Formats: sequence, C-alpha cells, structure tokens
Amino acid sequence: MADRPNILFIMSDDHAAHAIGAYGSRINRTPHIDRLAREGMRLNHCYCTNSICTPSRAAILTGQHAHVNGVRTLADRLDGRRPILVQKLLREAGYQTAIVGKWHLGHGGEADPTGFDYWNVLPGQGLYHDPDMIEMGEKKNYSGYVSDIISDLTLDWLEGRDPEKPFLLFCHHKAPHRPWEPGEKYASLYAEEDIPLPETLWDDYATRAEAARVARMRMEDLTERDLKAAPPENLSFEEERIWRYQRYIKDYLRCCASIDDSVGRILDYLDANGLAENTLVIYTSDQGFFLGDHGWFDKRFMYEQSLQMPFLARFPREIPAGTVSDAILTNNDFAPTFLDYAGSPVPAEMQGVSGRGVLCGEKPASWQTSLYYRYWMHKDSEHNVYSHYGVRTHRYKLIYYYGKGFGCKGASDEDTEPEWELFDLTNDPLEMTNVYADPAYAEAVRELTGELDQLQKKFGDVPAH
Ligand code: CA
Repeated sequence: MADRPNILFIMSDDHAAHAIGAYGSRINRTPHIDRLAREGMRLNHCYCTNSICTPSRAAILTGQHAHVNGVRTLADRLDGRRPILVQKLLREAGYQTAIVGKWHLGHGGEADPTGFDYWNVLPGQGLYHDPDMIEMGEKKNYSGYVSDIISDLTLDWLEGRDPEKPFLLFCHHKAPHRPWEPGEKYASLYAEEDIPLPETLWDDYATRAEAARVARMRMEDLTERDLKAAPPENLSFEEERIWRYQRYIKDYLRCCASIDDSVGRILDYLDANGLAENTLVIYTSDQGFFLGDHGWFDKRFMYEQSLQMPFLARFPREIPAGTVSDAILTNNDFAPTFLDYAGSPVPAEMQGVSGRGVLCGEKPASWQTSLYYRYWMHKDSEHNVYSHYGVRTHRYKLIYYYGKGFGCKGASDEDTEPEWELFDLTNDPLEMTNVYADPAYAEAVRELTGELDQLQKKFGDVPAH
C-alpha cells in the first residue's frame, strides 16, 4: 500500500467561489489557487449541507448531516469520542494525521480534536494578529499574521513528518472570516480603485419570503468594527451602501490575497520535495459568502452564493488537468472520498458518497442529481435568519422556511409563519424571483416537494411540512 496518496486538504473560512479567479471572479485575482484548477479539476456544483462554520466542519469530518452528527448550530460541539471520524479511520489505516489552523468544534474534554497525530488549532474563531493557538492541548502565542502562521505550521509539519507513511493533513485557515483584518502585506491593496458592484446589490426582496426581508445581513448592518471607520456624513442611502460595500469587500479580498499566497507556498513545497505527483490537494471553503449579493454579507441562507463551496482538486496520477465537472458533490461526500483514496471502506454510518469517480472525470450513471440542505439557527440573535430546509437540483431550488427553532442551541423559540420559495435557476440564476406560487411551476413544485420528502426519508431527517 506504499502508493496510497497523501491527502492535503486546504480549507479557508467563508471564501466564496465568486472571489476566486478560476470561478470567474470579477473582483479579484487568485493565481495560486487557480493553479489547482489548471492542473486539476474544478467542481461547479459543490455545496454545503448547512451553510455555517461549525456544522460544515462536522459534516466534513463525519460524512453525516447535522441531525445525525449532532452539530446543528454554532453552539453545538463535535463529540471526539465518536468512532466515525475520517481522521480516526485514516489513522487506523496507517495514515499520519494532522490539523493546523481553525477547528471551531469546541475545546476541552470531549470537544478537543481527536484522531490526529498532531494538532495545533486556534481557540474558537482565533485572532488575525498575534494569535494564541492550542498545540496538543497546550496554549502558545505566535507573533505575526494568522494566515502566514498557519502556512508556516503546515510546512513545518510536512517537513517533520515520517516520510514512510502517507498523510492526511488539514490546513484550515481562519481568513477571510469576519471581521476581515488584512495582513500588512496587503493592507493597501485596492486602495486606489473601486471594486465592481454585485448585480444584486439593490435587491428589494419583492417576491421573496419574509425571511429574506428581515435578515440582518445588509450592508447597513456592518458595524464600525467591521468597516474600521464610521461612514462619512451626508451620504445618500445609495452612496452610503456603496461606501460600506467598498470598505467591506476590499478588506475581505485583502484577506483572500494572503490565503492565495499560502496556497502558493504549499504548492511550491510539494514541488520542491517531490510530493506533487502523489498528493491529492484540495482547496475549498467551509461554505460560501454573500459579497454584497442581495445587499448582504454573511451566509446561512440556501441561496447560491452561500450554499456553494469552491472545490478545486489536483492529483496528477488520476485527475485530468484543466477539467471541470457539473456533478453535484456535498461536504458530506468529502470523508467518503478521502477513505476511497486511502483504500479504506466507507462505514455505513456515513451518509455521503465518494467523489473519486467524479474527480477522475467518470461521473457514474447513478450519480446524485439533488442535495438536501438544512439550516437550524432560527432567528439567531445577530443575523435573524429563519431556519429552513430545501432541495437543489441542477434546474431548481425549493426552500421551506418552517418557522421554528425546535429548541436548538442558538435558535429562538419565537415561531414565524411558514413560507416556501422556488427558484428556476436556468431562467433566474441570481435567485431574484420566487416562482413558488406561479401556476406555470405547479408541476415543478410537486416534483421538488416529492424529491425533498425522498431526501428527508433517505437521510432520516424529520419533516416539518
Ligand atoms: Ca465559515
């Protein structure tokens, strides 16, 4: 089994696909991340099953939906005693396992990382500058910028590993998470230019559910801490919204620039050490983000910019260079994919499927044509996003705001009126028009509702409609 590939999983936090060159970004350049697309595969339809940090990380490690792994909200913790964790299974199969950077699944006792030969993680969200980190249970302070430090630690671990064993290495960046504090190197990037405005910056949510209208994620909800300045006085509403967008997006993209540097350094290391051929390198983010789209920042909603995860994979032995796939993959599928590459069986408890065939460019005939999504933090105190679940196919997206918190941690007990949304993604890729009540879509509603029921049965989630 000496030829089992290494797996190097680079994940940033809140890096939306539309801020990556390879995904056609209009607002920034990411030459090093783009190299993975050029030398490997770009997935156009990779999605998270719950668009928020902690649950996405739990889905990635367990291969399970939130109602099964128990991590539904930001307040839930992953129980490290669980046997079904991808790093544990790979370690048992002879891999060296390590995680460096953001963990965000809890700390202390059962919540500390398990199944790793080495771990060095930020406490909670961690800091951008001079962060504390917890190395194998011991708190240490590091000087410098967090993305550089995580890159240094990643390279240090690679340098010191046992070269006789394959590895599974998670390099988990904190950036570009709120409050978007750039490193010194990129502090003045874009200073002399305006970033193009998103097409949906002025969305008025006219046809949509109340959930969209009441969410507190608009440019106007950005704080002075987020923007690092107070808006100039005497601006019109439109002028101030644009000012806020520019302040926000420039810092966000400056943080992305450091992540891109990090990917470049890591790829250079693999080249210089003869590791490029036998290492599966993945670049992704724990979920997407609204970059002024719909007038918003943040994520949580099942709308496309938040639902989509960038996913670029390079493995020269198997993945044809410069390829693109439209197959649907979710973060529940990552763990089964890693196990498949390691030649290990996928436990029946995992709900995802291996994407190895897709990455080879051989999409199986029976490949999944829809995905199931659920966001649980009903009316969370900061963003006021309503809980919802839904289904996305290649053509449609059906969302049900079921109006309850069901006692989840971090959710409100205040009920709201249930509402449905349907989007025709072929005719309305920007999701501006809810066609749920349009008689022309009655058949689509019937089909999609049936598909949603089917997925809830398949994954064992309890319907609320
Ligand atoms: Ca995140």
